[in-house]
Amino acid sequence: MGTETTSPLPRILISACRFGQPVRYDGGHTRTASDVLDRLEATGCLIPFCPEVAGGAQTPRPSGEILGPGGGDGVLDGTARVVEADGTDVTSLYVTGARLTLDLVRRHGITHALLQDRSPSCGSSIIYDGHFSGNRHPGHGVTTALLRRHGVTVFADLDALVDGLDLRNHL
Ligand code: SF4
Repeated sequence: MGTETTSPLPRILISACRFGQPVRYDGGHTRTASDVLDRLEATGCLIPFCPEVAGGAQTPRPSGEILGPGGGDGVLDGTARVVEADGTDVTSLYVTGARLTLDLVRRHGITHALLQDRSPSCGSSIIYDGHFSGNRHPGHGVTTALLRRHGVTVFADLDALVDGLDLRNHL
């Protein structure tokens, strides 16, 4: 799903659903109207990728949540698992997706990412608590955990990314 680009701006990983691709567990996407995102896309710097689809997930699919301590880091360290509501353990799919995302990031020399918060893969500040009760708590997903371990700066907020990379004058 990665694309080559001739943009003079640094390449930025973006959650594919946030880019508008219908890869969410429910078959939808999470893109919302944004002039800033439109202009960023027009520069060719955005590289959309879905860790879960890359890891082998179907769309639509049952949603997953991280169960156990440590969020995405706990999954990487073996103290937590990713499960579906019926208890099916899908940890390996999520870890595979995270590793493939890291491979993509390395291939493109990516240092910054705009990911979809609350996801068990892409979440960067808040995730669900693993009990499918709608409760959330601070934490990040499996892919975000792995990317952060390898020095990638992950944002959930578009304006924070644009300001953090000082991109506003380029848009
Ligand atoms: S894994 Fe990430 S890119 Fe894929 S649907 Fe979930 S939030 Fe979007």
